[in-house]
Amino acid sequence: MPILNGDAMTGGVPLLANKEILPYEKALEYLNEYDSRDGLSIDQLLDSNKNGALTYNDFLVLPGYIGFAAAEVSLDSPVTKRISLKTPLLSSPMDTVTEDNMAIHLALLGGLGVIHHNCSADDQADMVRKVKRYENGFITDPICLSPETTVAEAIALKEKWGFGGFPVTENGKQNSKLIGIITNRDIQFHHHDNDPVTAVMSTDLVTAPAGTTLLEANEVLRQSKKGKLPIVDSNGNLVSLLSRTDLTKNHNYPLASKLPHSKQLISAAAIGTRPDDKNRLQKLVDAGLDIVVLDSSQGNSLYQIEMVKYIKDKYPGLDVIAGNVVTREQAASLIAAGADGLRIGMGSGSACITQEVMAVGRPQATAVRAVSSFAARFGVPCIADGGIQNVGHIVKGLAMGASTVMMGGLLAGTTESPGLSFVRDGKLVKAYRGMGSIDAMEDKKAGAGSTGNAKASNAGTARYFSEGDRLLVAQGVSGSVLDRGSVTKFVPYLIAGVQHSLQDIGIKSLVELRSGVNEGSVRFELRTVSAQAEGNVHGLHSYDKKLYS
Ligand code: GDP
Ligand code: GDP
Ligand code: 5GP
Repeated sequence: MPILNGDAMTGGVPLLANKEILPYEKALEYLNEYDSRDGLSIDQLLDSNKNGALTYNDFLVLPGYIGFAAAEVSLDSPVTKRISLKTPLLSSPMDTVTEDNMAIHLALLGGLGVIHHNCSADDQADMVRKVKRYENGFITDPICLSPETTVAEAIALKEKWGFGGFPVTENGKQNSKLIGIITNRDIQFHHHDNDPVTAVMSTDLVTAPAGTTLLEANEVLRQSKKGKLPIVDSNGNLVSLLSRTDLTKNHNYPLASKLPHSKQLISAAAIGTRPDDKNRLQKLVDAGLDIVVLDSSQGNSLYQIEMVKYIKDKYPGLDVIAGNVVTREQAASLIAAGADGLRIGMGSGSACITQEVMAVGRPQATAVRAVSSFAARFGVPCIADGGIQNVGHIVKGLAMGASTVMMGGLLAGTTESPGLSFVRDGKLVKAYRGMGSIDAMEDKKAGAGSTGNAKASNAGTARYFSEGDRLLVAQGVSGSVLDRGSVTKFVPYLIAGVQHSLQDIGIKSLVELRSGVNEGSVRFELRTVSAQAEGNVHGLHSYDKKLYS
């Protein structure tokens, strides 16, 4: 590179004593040819000999070059070997976080809610069923009524299922002659509860013949201006049903998590590894489960390895996420057993005291990098689970190599989590508890379950396991988090936040983020304690921290 003659002077003031000044046009060339890259590569950052093990607050990502709009950033990412999401956000299988309502709304927004198992197998299967039934193309197993069903019974079924449009068939089942349809409006102002539904049902039906494609059927539905379109065979027997609401749902939620050839939402649920969990799993599979998460704080066990093998053998169509793990060795056992995904984290959860009590665990950034870089070699995607407090943590989890992140505390305060908000110390809050807290474990032992009512946690008073004198050792605490409003606002904020962050890093997709980190073009910096203080609001007398509007 040519060096100009003359002193390194600007406006008469020396910038670099005894150095020549370079032509400004050559800045980029000079940088590429002569200077080493600014910041640290991932391997330099996570050199535990030098830096110890790190967690999210210990480092930052350096900014790159912005040449695109934030909205262009793609967040598509795999959650298992076979299934990808448009939003890399999962909710934890905890009884204060994920039941059907959270699972449905997160899936609509492109993420995935993992339904907890601190309840009976039947309750859990019902929740899976609700997720699968929530949105459809053709409803292939519509709930039907017989001509003898009374209006009162139809109203009860509406309460049970959450929808009120029922075809009436000759024998009350599918594949029998369709004789009418009963909808909410037919029964709304009908005061004779004991009348049969035939007294109020509509019989001038617009139908479409079996074999009609979804596209064609949707068009008939649009034209007909009706709420439902029954599909019938040449003998007039009911084959399936289409609902107008599904056109709206499909239109309103373009990111919704669905399998390629299905119009239903993807459902995920957690189970344990005890013999009984096999019966539970059968019920969940019957309800339409797509992904099962083996829920253990230390996943590298004989029980889990056997369970992974059992599931892969018995249910080849079902994807299994194993865990939790924080080391390559733990991961290797589960990958070798056939796991389709791994969940990483031990002791990083906000309601968790594992590291303190068990002296076992690993700081989360180091754990995520160690496991996900290993698992990537076998094509196994990883979830960074726990310790996510803000958008920045999501990005850092993804930058460490996770394909998706899982949140408990951050989503526990939303409207869609189980339980109701209440006021504590003048603030609106919701209950949040670790699944290893005494409260949660006692509920499980008492068989109390917690569906939609996780706050009422004192159902069981037993302090000891009944089948022995084993004392309950807590690995979590029970408390509350601030109310956050609906995930339908909060999750879009998280998505937009991650897109803006990746734009700052100069990265257009999560695929690019992973390759940029591995190749060393995405750079990092360690933060000292004072750097961390500087990175937070400081020096203000008071302030409001409103995160989005
Ligand atoms: P309705 O008019 O009261 O039946 O309810 P909606 O207009 O809200 O639509 C019903 C929703 O439930 C749609 O998204 C359907 O796909 C879904 N659904 C799932 N299974 C069934 C079923 O068996 N019958 C009906 N009517 N809807 C179902
Ligand atoms: P967590 O690991 O604390 O989240 O809870 P788990 O229910 O997964 O496991 C609690 C303990 O029971 C751990 O020591 C497991 O290794 C063990 N465990 C898990 N599954 C089985 C099983 O099927 N049989 C037996 N005997 N122990 C199990
Ligand atoms: P958070 O997002 O609140 O920081 O962490 C959620 C994660 O904490 C869960 O997905 C789960 O892995 C973990 N977790 C939930 N309950 C407990 C518990 O009682 N003990 C421990 N060690 N971890 C828990």
